Parts: sequence; C-alpha cells; structure tokens
Amino acid sequence: MAGRPGRTGRGGSQTGAGDLLELVRSGRATTRGALQQATGLSRATVGQRLDRLFRAGWLREGAGGPVDSPRGGRPSITLEFDGSHAVVLAADLDTRHARAAVLTLTGELLAEHSGTLVVEDGPESVLGELGRWFGELLEKAGHRAEEVCGIGLAVPGPVDSETGRVVQPPIMPGWDGYDIRGRLSRALPEHTGASTVPVLVDNDANLMAYGEQRTGHRDCSAFVLVKVSTGIGAGVVVDGSIYRGIDGGAGDIGHIRVGAEALCRCGSYGCLAAVASGGAVARRLAGAGVPAASGSDVRDLLAAGHPEATALAREAGRQVGDVLATVVTLLNPGVLMIAGDLAGTPFLTGVRELLYQRALPRSTAHLDVVTSQLGERAALVGAGALVVEHLYAPDRAEERLAALGV
Ligand SMILES: [Zn+2]
Repeated sequence: MAGRPGRTGRGGSQTGAGDLLELVRSGRATTRGALQQATGLSRATVGQRLDRLFRAGWLREGAGGPVDSPRGGRPSITLEFDGSHAVVLAADLDTRHARAAVLTLTGELLAEHSGTLVVEDGPESVLGELGRWFGELLEKAGHRAEEVCGIGLAVPGPVDSETGRVVQPPIMPGWDGYDIRGRLSRALPEHTGASTVPVLVDNDANLMAYGEQRTGHRDCSAFVLVKVSTGIGAGVVVDGSIYRGIDGGAGDIGHIRVGAEALCRCGSYGCLAAVASGGAVARRLAGAGVPAASGSDVRDLLAAGHPEATALAREAGRQVGDVLATVVTLLNPGVLMIAGDLAGTPFLTGVRELLYQRALPRSTAHLDVVTSQLGERAALVGAGALVVEHLYAPDRAEERLAALGV
C-alpha cells in the first residue's frame, strides 16, 4: 500500500476524506504519516481531509496515545474510527423466535432482547412488534431514535438485496415482495428523520457468514457458513463481501434434491432440508416417540446426549456433507463453518466423514471445518456490520459528509 502517489481509477475522489476513513477503519494506515504514504497526498491535504472527519465526529485520536515513529523524530498519534457517534439497530428473525439489539458502529452490543416472534404471523404484525422492541432497546441503551444511523435485518428466506424484499420465501407466508424497508423505517416512534435511515435486509445465513468472517476469520478470502436449524442455508463471503449471486439465490443449498421421498416445506420432494435439517431430525424423533418438534428441541436433546438424537444428527451430517463436497469443490474455501441448532460434535463428525471421502484432496487440503464463534449473535453482528460498511464506504461517506456540511 505504501508509496503509491497518483493512484488512478476514480481520479481525485480516490483520495477524499471517505478514502482516508476507509484506510483508518481497515487498519491499513492509522497515522497521518501512513496516510500520506498510502495516498501520496501532502501533509496539508491529509490534515484538511482529516479535519472534516474530526468535525463530523467520525474520527478520534487513539486512546493509546502517541506512538513513537519508527524513524525517530516527532511521535505520531494513532487515529481511530469513533464508533460512538451513532448507533445501529439489528434484528435476526427466525421462524418462531427473534433477537434484536442496539450496537455501536464498531459492533459492541449495547442492549439486546430475544423472544417469541412468529414469522408466519406476517410482516405487518412481526415488524410492528420489532419496532416496539427497538424502541425499548434504545431506551435501555440510553440512546435516542435520532441517533440511529441505520437498521439491519436478517430473515430466514431469499432476499433481493437491491430492494430489500423477500423473494418467494418457502417458510415466510405473506412476506413475498413486501416492502420491509418502508415498514421498518416507519417503525421507530418519534423518529423525525425516519425517511433517511437506511434499512438493509439480507438472508440470515449470509449475515451470519459476514459476522463470523469479519470477527474471527478476516484473513480468509473464501469463507462458507452452513446454518442447520429448522431449515438449511449457506452464506458465502468472498474477498470480504457477501456473495449473493445474480438474484440473491446463492447458498440456498437446503433445496438441492438428494433423491429422498420426504416432502419439503417448499412443496418439492427430496430436498436436503427435508431429510437432514433440525426439523427433519425432530420429525424422525417424534415418529420414534421422542418429544421433539423443532431444531431447537433437537439441540436440547443433543446437549443432553440423547442417543437417538445423536445417531440421527450424525446421519444428517453425512447427508449435508455429501452436498458440501460439491460446494467445497466449486468454491475451494479456507473455512467451512457449521452453525445452527445441529452444529455439534455428532453432526460435524458426519459432515467430515462424507466431505473428505467425496471431495478432491486439493479442495480440502487447506480447509478448516469449524463451528460458530458468535453463536446466536452471529446474524446480529453481521447485520450491524453490513449497515456500517454501507454507510461508511468511501463514496457514501463523502456524500454524507457533504450533507452534514463539514
Ligand atoms: Zn425444498
């Protein structure tokens, strides 16, 4: 990065205040000297652009104090993104349960709530209730609605990321094409600037993958997360960005046909989710007289070491592992993370058995198969991070600085 004066591409805008912020936020350049080196700008110009960021309250001098310059001379002060000048609201909807939080811009959780929220009740009811949760959480966190700079929402279905609308979701009746952004931006009580708050909606597995990759696997340029709960879905993060495909359909592996007879919630027969999800394992357990109705019931049985649940989870892992052999062959990821209700030792053992047996050695030689680090908070963290990346990307940061008049 160092010593590249006159970078071309976007002309003068390449090294605006938004670009300097990006360099600081990513940790690539965190002193005035390093910013000069990275951009080729003069000390005075860097100073002017940083002043705009200081005036906006987006940047501050590091808490660590002056750092000695490696070449001696004047000590240079480290700069850091000030994550306290606004807050983000994030929520993760599951089929019968939801989780919501207020986060700082650097991803710190300020207040959190989880409870029953049934996605089948439809968007009006669910998003109205979520708005009430957000109001209470803001109060608990000691922040006003005016301080909210954006809202991120994870949903258990395919999303058109351009419009933020859910597209033909198999398990979200009444949500197809619904204007989630419009509804949520009006959800906050007494929010004077409601129309200006961006609402980003994405699939839950995508946001879990994004949250986990940024938190614990930042160096991994090809990251895959598979969520196995009541359904099955996957999120793919390539070069630090969510890979969604052309229509937001990438990663929807739960409806790949595996040739079984079972009826899936999508209306087809033989989908992977119909035979190897938490829901499918629960149905088999119920058929054998073990009380279980959902992925979370299976999780509880697995935690208690229930022998039939353990055997069925391992078999489900083998079936998912068979499909993942194809996924891994296509993408050659560095990390394959298993998350969701079934993500424990028996399921992981099953995945590994089939994966290493079916995939080419070259595509698994440097593959780490791991479990989630963020657990049930992964999608919340990912949703918050997506909002921040959207708002502080160089071009949008420039626009917002101009709108602030700094
Ligand atoms: Zn299906």
